[in-house]
Amino acid sequence: MGLGHCAVGLAAKPVAPKVPLGILLLATMMLDVLAIAFGWMGIEGAKTGIPWSHSLLMSVVWSMAAGLLCSRIFHNHRAGVVIGLLVFSHWVLDFVSHPIPFSSFSWRSWQWSYGHPLPPDLPLLFAGSPKVGLGLYNSISAAQATALELGMLVLGAAVYVYYALRKRENDTPA
Ligand SMILES: [Zn+2]
Repeated sequence: MGLGHCAVGLAAKPVAPKVPLGILLLATMMLDVLAIAFGWMGIEGAKTGIPWSHSLLMSVVWSMAAGLLCSRIFHNHRAGVVIGLLVFSHWVLDFVSHPIPFSSFSWRSWQWSYGHPLPPDLPLLFAGSPKVGLGLYNSISAAQATALELGMLVLGAAVYVYYALRKRENDTPA
């Protein structure tokens, strides 16, 4: 869902104009950044799954933490709310698309997961708690998944470009 997450970040720019686009994009990818960091530290991985970065409970915790941090950094309550929602949007999109084979987001692994339903990989609470995931990417092909994500990216980019053009128009003195 890499491109799909980016699409949400792009589309959020008009509602959080004070926040740089890079931060919005980072917010949508934060749970994956955490997963990579935790994988590197050895507390998440193929064996343990992704309870610290991607459980529903921890996603809410990370979203609130990121939101509070950003509302302080940007001295803007609304920026914090938007950042928090963006971090959580990652979980929502992952909930729809997962399970995908952990730690290999390659084209081949998508091919492999298609038609081979995998066990859900998003825990509700902690390690060992029930796992969820609607499994969209198990029931559509890699090509369809890519088309879906590209479509989302185009929509998100369109929202962003429209906003940027409007802003330039308003900023230029008549
Ligand atoms: Zn993810």
